[in-house]
Amino acid sequence: MQRLEQLSQQVEQVMAEIGERYGQYQRDRGLFCRSGCGECCLHPGIEATVLEMLPLAFSLLHEGKAESTLDALQTHDLPGCFFYSRHSEDGKQGQCSVYMKRPGICRLFGAAGYNGREGEVLLSVCKNIKADYPQALQETLIALESDPPPMIRNGKEQIRQIDYELGGLNYPINDAMKLALEKVLFEQYYMSLASED
Ligand code: SF4
Repeated sequence: MQRLEQLSQQVEQVMAEIGERYGQYQRDRGLFCRSGCGECCLHPGIEATVLEMLPLAFSLLHEGKAESTLDALQTHDLPGCFFYSRHSEDGKQGQCSVYMKRPGICRLFGAAGYNGREGEVLLSVCKNIKADYPQALQETLIALESDPPPMIRNGKEQIRQIDYELGGLNYPINDAMKLALEKVLFEQYYMSLASED
């Protein structure tokens, strides 16, 4: 098996575990994402590493869609993530079209922890969850010490440790996807040349 595909499989295992752990915290605390909401996928600042895009890049490669997706990404000019399917005119309603292969960053958000200036644990939670579950939010904030949230930086680090070179730099999510596809396609091309010798 090619090196990148081995990395991809490791990333996928870690991302599945992360998704389960971070999702369980949200369920335990009663802080649920609003059904059909995709506002975070529209955010212009979403960043990901090439490493965490590898499972999606290989999935597209195996489906024969890697090159066409790369072409489409070059001309994509809508705000937000390329893989977000808009279901409303303003784009706020929609869904992820690659949910099972979504990168790590998309599994860490919802309700998770981060450190404030003094190192204190704070809760990262979106405005819609705040509005929908004020009571659960209040209880979660009171319980931050006794039931600490999984930290965003720990999840990111867990993925990064698989390969510091590909996991060390963050790019706008669509650029990270392009780079991952280029690497996967290049490796496949190189392997096909090598097998002809
Ligand atoms: S990969 Fe899916 S969940 Fe992540 S930002 Fe894109 S559309 Fe949203």
